[in-house]
Amino acid sequence: MQDQKTTALVWLRNDLRYQDQQSFYHAVKNHSRVIAYYSFDPKLFKKNHWGFKKTGAYRTKFLLETVIELQKELKANNISLIISQKEPEKDLPIWVKKYDVNAIYFQKEWTAEEQDTERTLRDNLNSEIACVDFCDQFLYHPDDVSFDLDRLNNVFTVFRKKCEKFTDVRPLLPTPKKLPKSNFIDETFRIPSFESLGIASLILHPYSVFPFQGGTKEAFKRMNHYFWDTKKLSVYKKTRNGLLGTDYSSKFSPWLANGSISPRMLYWEIKNYEKKVEKNDSTYWLIFELIWRDYFKYVSLKHRNKIFYKGGILDKNYTWKNDVTLLESWINGTTKEPFVNANMIELQRTGFMSNRGRQNVASYFAKDLLMDWRIGAAYFEEQLIDYDVHSNYGNWMYVSGVGNDPRDRKFNVKLQAERYDERGTYQNRWNQKTLFE
Ligand code: FAD
Repeated sequence: MQDQKTTALVWLRNDLRYQDQQSFYHAVKNHSRVIAYYSFDPKLFKKNHWGFKKTGAYRTKFLLETVIELQKELKANNISLIISQKEPEKDLPIWVKKYDVNAIYFQKEWTAEEQDTERTLRDNLNSEIACVDFCDQFLYHPDDVSFDLDRLNNVFTVFRKKCEKFTDVRPLLPTPKKLPKSNFIDETFRIPSFESLGIASLILHPYSVFPFQGGTKEAFKRMNHYFWDTKKLSVYKKTRNGLLGTDYSSKFSPWLANGSISPRMLYWEIKNYEKKVEKNDSTYWLIFELIWRDYFKYVSLKHRNKIFYKGGILDKNYTWKNDVTLLESWINGTTKEPFVNANMIELQRTGFMSNRGRQNVASYFAKDLLMDWRIGAAYFEEQLIDYDVHSNYGNWMYVSGVGNDPRDRKFNVKLQAERYDERGTYQNRWNQKTLFE
């Protein structure tokens, strides 16, 4: 029931959308006044333990585009988005006081740094302020699955089959009702500049396979293109291991990572497509991949900080190297493997790399160069437009033999190149580095 006298603040994290967003849905339903807050937290723009930026230029650009668009969408619904560049745990309490906020709504995060922020925030808030959090980044909601988290199987297939058999994907949330004009705060909140975030501005590389912008509108545009306009969804399973062009795979990952689209939105649109166009192994396979995404979230929910440990979730006692020369050759694409090089140059120049490429370069890093997999993961964290803590560390552990691969496979990079880049077109594109300087 709505309490006419209360104000809610929606603290946005990796849930940067208005539709199918639990915090907004409940805040608008339960409070007469709603404001939103997003901070470009300075901690996320610093260097990490390995000397890489936690957020590099490609993701920063995408994030800025996302926030600009969300601010517009919220304004159209008479909700102000407060934009900050301060640490939210210190800054939020100031806004809470200024606008007499009664409750804060946010997406639950469980990785260590996010939890530290949340804990300090709660300490800094008056105990009367309600903190309401939601698990809003899953396809299968943790409250709906048929097993206890400590019984999560280390094998993906077991998890997938249980989810498919026993759990329904929740329906989309109704759009929140539009708030009155009086809800809008008469104050200007500006988007930060690249410079103030310590990032040089970027020009899109002409060969980028991800020439898209951030924001929900763009995500929907991409979905319409991939599903309805071109029907690429119908052939996804055949093309998904591609390397060139925008349409070999869906490219949904950057929007999913910052939450400008929800996995449920994609799931229900695929179901709609299956009804109206066709249902085949490709339409199923996109859902299959979304379940992989969920799986790594469950893995990190269960194992917590172990996903960042050298021995991974298996407590493996391998010896890893930390050799600067090897690292630089991998990063700059000057190893003796042209296929690895092409992929690493693509990542450096565009912030994106195919799944096939990621598997190969990660396997080469950990299992050929024997480099500490966490360094590779940290470099990916800086570079990837679609960096997602669970998918990144989960996949890196998997490929490095300290995670969920029951067979602990090593990729034969040469054979992979022959199979997936038969004519060398991809390698020629990115290995002729001087062409693109
Ligand atoms: P599609 O093939 O179209 O798949 C659709 C969606 O399914 C993706 O958007 C993604 O959300 C999900 N998905 C597909 N494959 C995987 C997978 N293996 N693991 C988890 N989810 C998957 N993905 C990220 O989103 N962020 C990361 O930081 C990330 N780091 C990775 C690191 C390594 C070493 C490896 C091997 C994979 C990583 N992936 C990561 C997974 C995968 O490579 C990307 O999700 C995918 O390439 C994104 O392109 P797409 O959206 O076109 O994928």
